[in-house]
Amino acid sequence: MENDIQEVLLTAEQIKAKIQELGRVLSTDYQGKNPLVICVLRGAVVFMTDLIRDMTIPLEIDFMAVSSYGNATRSSGVVRIVKDLDSSVENRHVIIVEDIIDSGLTLSYLIDVLDRRNAATVKVVSLLDKPSRRTVELYPDYCGFQIPDAFVVGYGLDYAGKYRNIPYIGILKEKVYQ
Ligand code: 5GP
Repeated sequence: MENDIQEVLLTAEQIKAKIQELGRVLSTDYQGKNPLVICVLRGAVVFMTDLIRDMTIPLEIDFMAVSSYGNATRSSGVVRIVKDLDSSVENRHVIIVEDIIDSGLTLSYLIDVLDRRNAATVKVVSLLDKPSRRTVELYPDYCGFQIPDAFVVGYGLDYAGKYRNIPYIGILKEKVYQ
């Protein structure tokens, strides 16, 4: 796997430090709110499991899986819920945990779905953000790192199902997906 990585963008240590910081901020902001932390499968699972362990307040978790029609490295914005939540979001303070925001289409769809289900608040925490590629107006409420327009893998992010277990985030060599 290492041979397919062009460059390490974020080391495991950098990621860990940033998540501790995010965990502290979220613990303060959601004190007494018992938030429902929603992991968007599958890319965000590694981030979410680390993040909740850096949150010191009572919370609940749930999972949602969406699939976006598009090619392997670009999403189309047409999103389908593949696995829905088990819990109701009505009157809950919801935190959507995402791995990366690219065009923003997946998240704007999800926020809309949860708003329509009458969540009390819906906020987004994303480990990575590629603001240069946004096609809809969407800003994460909490963000780990802004990154340049490159296709990255590791720390939960995949290409064709692979590389999720790399402990850092790296730019994938173009020859792998071209
Ligand atoms: P959006 O709807 O914001 O364009 O796409 C978000 C989703 O596209 C992410 O949750 C992720 O699954 C995928 N994605 C976008 N950029 C990357 C990237 O650089 N690497 C990987 N592995 N997935 C990405």
